[in-house]
Amino acid sequence: MSKLPLPLQQLVDQLSALPGIGPKSALRMAMTILKWPQEKAGNLGRCILDLREKLCICSGCAGLADSDPCEICADPLRDDSKLCVVSEWDSLLVMEESGFFRGRYLILGGLLSPLDGIDSCSLEFDRLRKKLGNGRVQEVILALGTTLEAETTGSYIKNMVAREFSGLTLTRLAQGIPLGSDLKFMDKETLKQSMRYRQSI
Ligand SMILES: [Zn+2]
Repeated sequence: MSKLPLPLQQLVDQLSALPGIGPKSALRMAMTILKWPQEKAGNLGRCILDLREKLCICSGCAGLADSDPCEICADPLRDDSKLCVVSEWDSLLVMEESGFFRGRYLILGGLLSPLDGIDSCSLEFDRLRKKLGNGRVQEVILALGTTLEAETTGSYIKNMVAREFSGLTLTRLAQGIPLGSDLKFMDKETLKQSMRYRQSI
């Protein structure tokens, strides 16, 4: 590819850093943006800036939000006694889309995976401890999927609850979820059934 003018090259470089976008697609995207009216292109730029400036991590659930606490943590009508633990924020979105869970959430920020360098310090276990220690949670529901990492993380939480919060009930979604699957790929009905028939562990 012959040398691109610098501003174009810079945009292509930035876009190529996105997952699934190679240099050719990045150039196509950049050319499309170039053809947009200035205001539209400006809006795209501002949205990217706003991502960093206006989004925050909720101090309650560790989810992404535009306010702290987030809407879910601030909602007085939600059930404090049930805490659903998910790995990533998009799993919370799947649960919320289904609309049947009315408790609170805690987002771990990933799953334990020692080989990838993700250990207990990298995840939100301290925040989980704090939440479990507030005296309002009675049931912790693990909605982590059925991957090996999910199992490892589930065992870690099970040990933590047994050791430090022995009065709490610990459950996980029913194992209707195919092995190796990630919560966010589940359809709503399966997820709903998995929640209804959740199992004590
Ligand atoms: Zn929150």
